[in-house]
Amino acid sequence: MAEDFDLPKGDLMRGKRGVVMGVANNNSIAWGIAAQLAAQGAEMAFTYQGEALERRVRPLAESIGVKLLIPADVSDEASMEAAFAAVKAEFGTIDFLVHAIAFSDKNELKGSLVENTTKANFLRSMEISAWSFIEASRRAAELMPNGGSLICLTYLGSERVIPNYNVMGVAKAALEAATRYIARDLGPKQIRVNAISAGPMRTLSLAGISGGRAMIGKGRSWSPLREDTSMEGIAGCALWLLSALGRSTTGEVIHVDAGFHIVGLPDEEAEGIGG
Ligand code: NAP
Repeated sequence: MAEDFDLPKGDLMRGKRGVVMGVANNNSIAWGIAAQLAAQGAEMAFTYQGEALERRVRPLAESIGVKLLIPADVSDEASMEAAFAAVKAEFGTIDFLVHAIAFSDKNELKGSLVENTTKANFLRSMEISAWSFIEASRRAAELMPNGGSLICLTYLGSERVIPNYNVMGVAKAALEAATRYIARDLGPKQIRVNAISAGPMRTLSLAGISGGRAMIGKGRSWSPLREDTSMEGIAGCALWLLSALGRSTTGEVIHVDAGFHIVGLPDEEAEGIGG
């Protein structure tokens, strides 16, 4: 819940309205970000997928004053159309969008990418995890006559080979490239577009990746900060990017991973090398 982590309160998002896509439960990264934005005065709409999820998401939303809950399956164009029409009807204009959505068949998030990836799941993973950010950006930008800020969530498996991440790494690479092109396209409208590359977090999505827990353990022992990635750190980065503090930053992929991404050879693997 929001109170499980430290959320600096203030007015950085006072008067700003936005859409948060991807709260599934209280471990979701989108939830951590939304709780921080609420603590800084933001007004939000949540999109969710499916009735079961609505039952889980509604109490969370209500606990931070979010009244607008809208069903949206990002792989269904009519559903996206209806969702953004509902946002427009309620808010008129918006200032920010959080895209925290990804999907791949978990049977293909293990072993060999070459041997274990079907065309159907490749296309579905790309559609839900990368294409949907392009579509959501277009629809959000239509509601941002005064500029705004968009963020998506990515992972290091886009840049480096991470065991089992496979097709999701390819989709995240597409998402990061899309972030740069969308930033180019929407920049003249004063809309900033950035990606947060988060370290591993204990969420439903991570549970779908074979060896996901080991990713957390290695993150702790190999990262320069020698700690897990924190929800506070991710939510704080989102607050920076989505508020006026983030002015002048666009098209970036910002790592929030305790520094894990800078390590080429971890100390614990380097015994006996050099002096
Ligand atoms: P999460 O709580 O499982 O959130 C993922 C969300 O995506 C869920 O709300 C899920 O809804 C939604 N989703 C999947 N398919 C959808 C569709 N067709 N239409 C609409 N929504 C759909 O996991 P999370 O870890 O917070 O993931 C949020 C983002 O952070 C993802 O982009 C993920 O890749 C990224 N990320 C995660 C980590 C990590 O270690 N956890 C690290 C870096 C980046 P359903 O539950 O209904 O499928």
